[in-house]
Amino acid sequence: PLPVLAVVGRPNVGKSTLVNRILGRREAVVEDVPGVTRDRVAYEAEWTGRRFTLVDTGGWEVDAKGIHLRVAEQAEVAVELADAVMFVVDATVGATDTDEAVVKMLRRSGKPVILVANKVDDQRAEADAAMLWGLGLGQPWPVSALHGRGSGDVLDEVLRVL
Ligand code: GDP
Ligand code: MG
Repeated sequence: PLPVLAVVGRPNVGKSTLVNRILGRREAVVEDVPGVTRDRVAYEAEWTGRRFTLVDTGGWEVDAKGIHLRVAEQAEVAVELADAVMFVVDATVGATDTDEAVVKMLRRSGKPVILVANKVDDQRAEADAAMLWGLGLGQPWPVSALHGRGSGDVLDEVLRVL
């Protein structure tokens, strides 16, 4: 079986856009409006000749449990199945309480985590990415999933740990 890479993070940070970027095609559903359910979806991906299974997450509905728990739960299931995790944060927003909750879960999992600082569309936004060192997950990798900026570098790093 192929190694499994899970992509987790809050709604609307750009997980599905990143998945599409990695796949090199439009397949994962990108939502401009958060809240439309789409459960864990697995794709076969390849980078520099290595194949792996890529799991997009984000199926969620805002319900009585609140966003926090739903995101963390969803991420937890994906992480259990994964060999490595891409944790995506919206660098233009910065780390939220929900992000902090996911970080705690990721730490407990013991799985290798690559921190993706997404929506770094230009040089100016690199400073936003640097703020995410504060999450304590090591180097934040600045990426623009939308434009492709930095996506190759982060994938090289992913394959080092996968
Ligand atoms: P998900 O809920 O985490 O899967 O997020 P989506 O991939 O559905 O993206 C949510 C919104 O963020 C969409 O409007 C995307 O076009 C936008 N988005 C995703 N990546 C980027 C990025 O790198 N830069 C910018 N500016 N917008 C992005
Ligand atoms: Mg999505």
